[in-house]
Amino acid sequence: MYDLSVSQLAEGLRNGDFSSVELTQHCVERMQKFSDLNAFITELGERAILQAQNADKLIKEKNHGPLTGVPIATKDIFCMYGVKTSCGSKMLDSFIAPYDATVTHKLDQAGCVTLGRTNMDEFAMGSSNETSYYGPVKNPWNKDYVPGGSSGGSAAAVAARIAPLATGTDTGGSIRQPAALCGITGLKPTYGRVSRYGMIAYASSLDQGGPFGASAEDCAYLLQAMAGFDEKDSTSLDKAVPDYTQSLNDSIKGKVIGIPEEYFSEGLGVGVKEIIQTAITWYEQQGCEIKSISLPNTDLAIPAYYVIAPAECSSNLSRYDGVRFGYRCDDPKDMRDLYDRSRSEAFGDEVKRRIMIGTYALSAGYYDAYYLKAQQIRHLISDDFKKAFEQVDVILGPTTPEPAFKIGEKTNDPVTMYLSDIYTISINLAGLPAISIPCGQQGGLPVGMQLIGNYFAEETLLNFAHQYQLDTDWHQQIPPGFNE
Ligand code: GLN
Repeated sequence: MYDLSVSQLAEGLRNGDFSSVELTQHCVERMQKFSDLNAFITELGERAILQAQNADKLIKEKNHGPLTGVPIATKDIFCMYGVKTSCGSKMLDSFIAPYDATVTHKLDQAGCVTLGRTNMDEFAMGSSNETSYYGPVKNPWNKDYVPGGSSGGSAAAVAARIAPLATGTDTGGSIRQPAALCGITGLKPTYGRVSRYGMIAYASSLDQGGPFGASAEDCAYLLQAMAGFDEKDSTSLDKAVPDYTQSLNDSIKGKVIGIPEEYFSEGLGVGVKEIIQTAITWYEQQGCEIKSISLPNTDLAIPAYYVIAPAECSSNLSRYDGVRFGYRCDDPKDMRDLYDRSRSEAFGDEVKRRIMIGTYALSAGYYDAYYLKAQQIRHLISDDFKKAFEQVDVILGPTTPEPAFKIGEKTNDPVTMYLSDIYTISINLAGLPAISIPCGQQGGLPVGMQLIGNYFAEETLLNFAHQYQLDTDWHQQIPPGFNE
């Protein structure tokens, strides 16, 4: 059952080939069998079986949708009523969410069965899933390698076929990058498409939740359940949600694909470059027009992001003061000591680094030089995309410069780690949607291509990705040792 697509699972459940309880048990067994991946912070096996029993009832009564009874893994960043929601941090290790995030609620309504809460970089800050308080997640393709971050646990769970679907969040690449490094499909929606209510904030103007699945078609089903206006999120957009599965089979003939010259210059690995070029040729053979374009401010994206994201995080994380949420130090001498020790004992190094950078960039005298400048650059980057989308339907390039790297390889060099986000970060700065799909392998490790769309063009991205997946089988490859 573990290798079935979402539509096959829905059909099997509907026809009574298997029940949701059987399917869930099967996934729970895989979750336990592959626990050495460290993909889950909290396993919810027993709770999942209860949910599955309820789903089976709904299916019997013919009161069900495509996801009723389908198991899912949830990133430990979405609040879930009565369940530990740690965000990968010691700070929230004892935090039991008192309410559901909108995404959690919507998935419940859709009848999904939650297998567990996936491991992630602390407060979603990282590119390799090594900053988690609960230890690194291992890449199912090679356990010495990182799965990518920050939604690494979700990506590993889908790649290992523990769960057919998983949720993630993407502030600067955290859905697309782990999808690429684990050989699965991941979509970062347009900013405002998926509610951020109850999704623990990292950098609020960039954070966006989205789906992981083996294929674009599977992601379409999950996005359908996640997307939509939410009055509880002031940045949510009141725009109708289309049927994402409807346009998957549209023809892409005659569509224009932009290839940004800046994405194929210095820094891109030779192996990855060749694999992406093969994918471009495939689209050309389908009758797409390939057009070279320029996104001239690409090299400014990392410096701008690594000012804006820390600035927002320094503000968002000020709420963790030892009083209101989570960790509190023992025997504080006074108020000051309570703040100081609670925060220094419970935050990890990367989170502290970001808070310090952000506080510095926002302080009087530096605000104009750093934060304001970064916001101006953000505008330039958005304008680059605006101009590009006057000429093209989608933009295609690599998701990451290289395939997965070894655990520990970049942990002592934050700047090198930040550089691995070069192709994903500008999309968040502009608020655009983008998808990563597997398109090859190098040295036994997956390589992903990224398709970037105009605002609210998720349908177009899913259509382009699905057409490619109809003709290729990279998305069906299962890592050795997990195909049994
Ligand atoms: N790697 C980026 C960062 O560390 C992006 C993380 C994310 O998308 N959550 O901030």
